[in-house]
Amino acid sequence: MDCIFCKITKGELPATFVAESEHAVAFNDISPRQPVHVLVVPRVHYTDVAELAVANPEVLADVIQLGVRVAELTSTSSFRLQFNTGLEAGQTVFHAHAHITSTTPRA
Ligand code: AMP
Ligand code: ZN
Repeated sequence: MDCIFCKITKGELPATFVAESEHAVAFNDISPRQPVHVLVVPRVHYTDVAELAVANPEVLADVIQLGVRVAELTSTSSFRLQFNTGLEAGQTVFHAHAHITSTTPRA
């Protein structure tokens, strides 16, 4: 399968990693739309968060916990955790992932 996030999680494509956990990795978005813009990506391939939630809630919980840790590491306080799900919602990479964004980066 030709999936860019599978390649990044396996180390076959470069990324700037921020943190990792048993089931997920976090790396900087290649075209950040906020001062903090990190993607949290499960190591196993699911098309989107809806599929992940049904198939593997333990991995979904790990993705969210890693997202919160990334927010604590990179941002001073407020942050967004967002899953774009489906074409019309703006999903462009069909491997489930959370965006962590913040306007208040840690110095
Ligand atoms: P979405 O539109 O929710 O599917 O988010 C996909 C995100 O992946 C976009 O914000 C892209 O900028 C980001 N992206 C695409 N390719 C890469 C890459 N090679 N490394 C890091 N981020 C990427
Ligand atoms: Zn994948």
